[in-house]
Amino acid sequence: MTTSFIQPEQGDPIAALATPVGVGALAVVRMSGKGVFDIAQRVFRKKNKPAFHLSQSKGFRAHFGIVYDCDGLIDEVVALTFRSPNSFTMEDMVEFSCHGGPVVVKHILQVLLDAGCRLAEPGEFTRRAFLNGRIDLLQAEAIGEMIHARSESAFRTAVNQMQGTLSLRLDAMREQLLHSCALLELELDFSEEDVEFQNRSQLAEELGALQEEVRRLVDSYQQGRLLKEGVATVIAGKPNAGKSTLLNVLLGEERAIVSHMPGTTRDYIEECFLYEKTMFRLTDTAGLREGEEEIEHEGIRRSYKKISEADLILYLLDVSSEVYLDEVPQILGFQKHYSNAHMIVVANKIDLTEEINERLQHLRELIGGKVCGISAAKGEGLGELKRIMGGMVEGLDKLHEASVLVTSLRHYESLRNASDALENSRELIDSCSGTELIAFELRSALEYVGEITGKVVNEEILNVVFERFCIGK
Ligand code: GDP
Repeated sequence: MTTSFIQPEQGDPIAALATPVGVGALAVVRMSGKGVFDIAQRVFRKKNKPAFHLSQSKGFRAHFGIVYDCDGLIDEVVALTFRSPNSFTMEDMVEFSCHGGPVVVKHILQVLLDAGCRLAEPGEFTRRAFLNGRIDLLQAEAIGEMIHARSESAFRTAVNQMQGTLSLRLDAMREQLLHSCALLELELDFSEEDVEFQNRSQLAEELGALQEEVRRLVDSYQQGRLLKEGVATVIAGKPNAGKSTLLNVLLGEERAIVSHMPGTTRDYIEECFLYEKTMFRLTDTAGLREGEEEIEHEGIRRSYKKISEADLILYLLDVSSEVYLDEVPQILGFQKHYSNAHMIVVANKIDLTEEINERLQHLRELIGGKVCGISAAKGEGLGELKRIMGGMVEGLDKLHEASVLVTSLRHYESLRNASDALENSRELIDSCSGTELIAFELRSALEYVGEITGKVVNEEILNVVFERFCIGK
């Protein structure tokens, strides 16, 4: 038996540098589209085999040779040829591995543009891979996430998504919805005969199970987001508590300006650090006090906004101060107002007081939450603080192995819409509404699910997805 491929439509020839700009041992310039073998051949000569033409190469091959222009040799390269459909884009592709210098790369790109390619748009190779059915939209996005992953967990989650685990689940849901829709639409065709191809109570039951599955995915976004973006961690507390100092030691480098004048961190800064496999996005805020100057007011307003968006609040106080207990009402207020976030009370400057154990104990009794004593300046207690922080998101680093997670806001929103449509359709069934209305809601659910994997192609969504890629990807 022979397998026949549907040859994808080849786009116009494009070229771009696929490796980072700058100096490196090697760089890769890639081309894709109609006629790229001929275009590449115009500037390439195989070593010891000048009569060889790249278009003679089958499937996937490597050829050692030179790239030249009218002035002569530009570089020695390895030309990789991928014959359609056996390439990333499913089009004919050629890659030149050349020496990684910016001038070399510029010359090579220029001769290719002169020979008939145009410069690729950001993400255009991946976009073609999607449009030709090589990968679905979810997998295309996963490639982007994998490249940008800043922690091991984010990387693993992206790899999972790239392998299509979530796509398979969504495709199965679509199949089921398509089947129900088809039956309902058939009923509409026979509407005069009052037939019911789809038993309503069975349909309601099936849709209930489907909605449950969609909801589980919607709920996984909270954790998926933490994995991908990192745990939004805000360091809050009065001026001079030592927030900037703590931020600096956690990051291991000087970032915020540390000063003796109260209220100097006027705005907030954000930096990431990795504890084991989990990434924390740390924000230092303007000190929380009634600001006298307008600029400080603005900083404080932003601090509260940041705190309200945080996943984890490190409430820092100066435990060496005689009035350290004055902050207890504020801390209790935080616990109440920001109950969605985890909070650790960090009692700083333990190096300046003898009464550290009593004070920590006292705070623990009054606050009833996690209290950790540290000296940010001397680097004491930081191991324990990081351990507690890690414990707050325990299991997060293992989540990607166990379950299918939603990590993108776009997917989350489509799934929520799908869940609403499923809910509506169930209500319509319960109230014995007309077939047409039920079918309409099911079609909507189908579209929302299809939007995620790209089964329903929407140009606007494609632009949003691919403009985030770099040129050459
Ligand atoms: P912020 O206003 O909360 O950001 O506080 P800073 O980080 O600017 O610190 C205020 C002052 O407290 C600076 O002089 C720091 O050197 C000092 N400081 C911060 N942490 C400690 C600590 O653990 N021990 C001591 N002795 N001084 C500290």
